[in-house]
This record gives sequence, structure tokens and C-alpha cells, in this order.
Amino acid sequence: MFATLPEPQPDAIIALMAAFAADPRDGKVDLGVGVYKDDHGNTPVMRAVRVAEQRLHDKQTTKTYTKLAGDPAFVAAMQKLALGETPDRLAGAAAPGGTGALRVLFELIARAAPGARFHISDPSWPNHAAMLKAMDKAPGAYPYFDAETRGVRFEEMLAYVNGLGTDDVVILHGCCHNPTGANLTLDQWQQLTDSAVEKGWLPLIDLAYQGLGDGLEEDVQGVRHMAARLPRLMIAQSCSKNFGLYRDRAGCATVQCADADEQAKVQATLASVNRLLYSFSPDHGAALVEIILNDPELRADWEAELTEMRGRINGLREGLAEALRQETNSDRFDFIRQHRGMFSRLGATKEQVEQVREEAGIYMVTDSRMNIAGLTQDKLRDFARAAAAAGV
Ligand code: PMP
Repeated sequence: MFATLPEPQPDAIIALMAAFAADPRDGKVDLGVGVYKDDHGNTPVMRAVRVAEQRLHDKQTTKTYTKLAGDPAFVAAMQKLALGETPDRLAGAAAPGGTGALRVLFELIARAAPGARFHISDPSWPNHAAMLKAMDKAPGAYPYFDAETRGVRFEEMLAYVNGLGTDDVVILHGCCHNPTGANLTLDQWQQLTDSAVEKGWLPLIDLAYQGLGDGLEEDVQGVRHMAARLPRLMIAQSCSKNFGLYRDRAGCATVQCADADEQAKVQATLASVNRLLYSFSPDHGAALVEIILNDPELRADWEAELTEMRGRINGLREGLAEALRQETNSDRFDFIRQHRGMFSRLGATKEQVEQVREEAGIYMVTDSRMNIAGLTQDKLRDFARAAAAAGV
């Protein structure tokens, strides 16, 4: 039966992780996989997470199932984190990571409107298109990244969404765009909101990096503006990066509904979609997040550590832009300063990416996406030199 099994499409980032692991050189640098790293190249368990784990260990008396839509206290805390004041017409469900939250929301749309069409940014996180294709819902792509300026092609993006209607779902990155690092301004979010109001398309906001751009509140200004003005929208949150809970798989799917009747129906559907896809969502990471967000002291410490992480990333952005300025005698890499989040696209060709990998042991994804957090201050000069030598 398995003899005719097609070879799965290799995932470029996972393949890069394997190549990096096999490289015997000391001092090699992995800018591939999207995990936060500290100055020593470690991805630490956050302090507040450790304390919450101890508390959970002490107080948890059972591991029996939670609810099909997860623990409502976790869902409520996550919704408040994203939206601030929350309206009472929100439906929501815990999910296995941001990926799980996206998958649940895709399924909800498939049930609510089988003919609906999805649209993603060009480019986007590769799993958006991969998951949708696996559901026979290959997405359209709206113009987004300008390879010349490394900014957003906003006029073209706006023209694209202005051509959409009530059968269209537009996936937007809430902040810290992956893979490009180029983000929408608040004014641009406002213009997109006007378009959604007028044309009736439905936003699905992928919020995987809240707090890693400019701040917990700053990063969701656009999302909050949209939520305040639109009757409906969807949000997929991940706790992988901002809580460092990658392998614990904590995430949340939220649907802002038009009214209470719609909310009840959507809530019941989310629970039944969870049942269909994986039954109960993992609760360990969700329980930690709920403890942290609802305990003022732990929350303050979590926010402080998140601020340190963000500061490190933005400091590396400054340092790398400066090193590239000096090595290339030009300001064409200053976009790295303006970009936010873990990633930027350097703008190198596949051959240049390979040359930097071979000569300096620095691993970027083939499209020249780099995880800024994978760098350390002492490597900035080496990286800039290698990039300049490769003619980037
Ligand atoms: N969306 C985006 C844009 C991402 O970058 C990621 C993580 N790489 C996710 C969603 C999903 O994250 P996870 O499932 O690990 O929580």
C-alpha cells in the first residue's frame, strides 16, 4: 500500500536544520529556524514559565480532559492580551500552537462558506499555503513585499483587497511579518479596515509574535483598530515565541462574531472542529500561560523578560545594519533597522546565500530570510563581511 506513496515535499527550513547539524565547523551560525535565541545561542525556558510550572505541579490534581474548546480562562486571557477590552461576542478555542489555531479557523470557514477563497501575502509563512492546499483551498496571493525597497507594496496590496468581496478571507500578519520583517503602519491598517468595511472581506489575523516587535500593546494597534470597527474577524494566536513554549503547543483561535446568536453557533462549531481534528487540545502550555497572564507579579516578570528579548533583537538589527553600512560602504541595508520581529530578508540570491553558508558557516534560508535572533554581537562583523564578499 505504501509503495506508491508520493515523496513528501521537503520543508526547506527543516532541511536547513539538518545541514546545519551536520556541519562540523566551530562557530557556525544558524539563522534558519525561527526560534528566539539568547546571546549564548540558547532558547531558554522563560523565568515566569519556570515558576508557573512549579505552581502547576503543586496545584494540579488531575490530568483528566479539559473542555473541547480548552480552558475558558486561557482563552479569555489570550483574547484580552490581543484585544485589550474584549466584546462579549467572541468565540474562542484553545489549539495546538498557532498552526493548530489556523487549521481550526480554516476548517470553520470551510464549513461556514465552502466556496470561500483565502488570500495570503506574497510572500508568506510557507505553511499558510501548504495547509490550505492540503484542504484543496489553494490561496490567492496579494502583493506585499517590495524586493527593491524591502518595504510593503501597500498601494498594490490595497488595490488587490479592494477587488475582493464577502466570499474572501484575507490572512494578515498581525505584526512581525514572517518571512520579510516588513510591517504595515497603523495608517495602512486603517485603510485596510476601510476596505474590509466597504467590500465585506473577512480578515484572519495570524498573531504569532506579539511583543517581539515594538511592544505588547504597540504590536496589536492595527489588530485592535480592525476589531473595533469590524463586526467580524478572526485571530490565530501562538504562544510559541512570546512565551517560549514551542514544543508545548499552546495557541488560541478567536472569532469575533456579529451578535450573540452567531457567537453561540460559532463556539459550538469550534468545539466540534477541535473534536474532529485532534479532540482535546494540549493544556500544559495553555495552563502556564493562564497562570502567568492572571498573576500580576508573574506577568510583570514575563513582560520584563519579553522586553529583554525584544531589546536584544532590535539591538542586533541596529548592529547588523551598521556593520553592513561599514562593510559595503552603503546605506542599502538600513531597512534591517526599520524591520521588526525575528526575521528580515537580506535580499541575497540563492547563490549568494550558499556562498555565505560555505565560506562563513552562516546559514540563511534559500530566500535569504534570516532569523535575527540567531546572531550574536560578535558575529555581526563576520556576517557583514561574508555578505559583502558574496556581493549581496
Ligand atoms: N504563523 C506564523 C507567521 C509563524 O511564523 C508561526 C511559527 N513559525 C506560526 C504561525 C505557528 O507557530 P506554532 O504553531 O509553532 O505556534
